[in-house]
Amino acid sequence: MSDPDPDRPAPALLLVEDDRELSGMLVELLTDEGYRVDRARDGQQGLHLGLTRRYDVIVLDRGLPAIDGVELLRRLRGRGVATAALLLTARGAVADRVEGLDAGAEDYLVKPFDLEELLARLRALRRRHPEHAHRVAIGSRWLDLDARQVCDPDGRVVTLSERECALLRTLATRSRQVFNRDDLRSLVFDAAESPGVVDTYVHYLRRKLGRDVIRTIHGRGYQIGSA
Ligand code: CA
Repeated sequence: MSDPDPDRPAPALLLVEDDRELSGMLVELLTDEGYRVDRARDGQQGLHLGLTRRYDVIVLDRGLPAIDGVELLRRLRGRGVATAALLLTARGAVADRVEGLDAGAEDYLVKPFDLEELLARLRALRRRHPEHAHRVAIGSRWLDLDARQVCDPDGRVVTLSERECALLRTLATRSRQVFNRDDLRSLVFDAAESPGVVDTYVHYLRRKLGRDVIRTIHGRGYQIGSA
């Protein structure tokens, strides 16, 4: 058991695991260790919680009903959720580990694993990713996800709408990726939205933050700019 620090809120952990016995045991262990744990039993529930609540760390099983762990992580990362994630996998094959890491996992453990090792890995993850989920860098500026504001080193602040923030967060979280319009529409907005919705919000963001904040890659789509 760790000593709770009265000045710091308990770290919030999302556990996505469909094995009832294992997940019950992990909830008990992690709660004892001082985490505030939300449990999801399938990928759909995990996606909903991951998108609507703020966590300090996510532990997810690879093999899940509804949406598997790798796809779940890919969707969370696509929507700009940058929370450090540890993937539990029954398979230790190199290809499976690479797939998990490519989808955006920071670490993984192969089942069956030692509980003490899980706790140590989670401590290490949280040390490497302090406040990781709350801020995204955009060149010399940063997006504060709590306040929905873009701040620059001189103290200037621009407030964004919810949809502007979601689009900018998605682009900025994967700064090397070029997103096509259809991908952005389904990741950030809704596939049922009009095809022009992405261009409209790119226009809004450029008007607020300067033309260079988002690059147009001709014939391919959009990428976060370096300015
Ligand atoms: Ca499973």
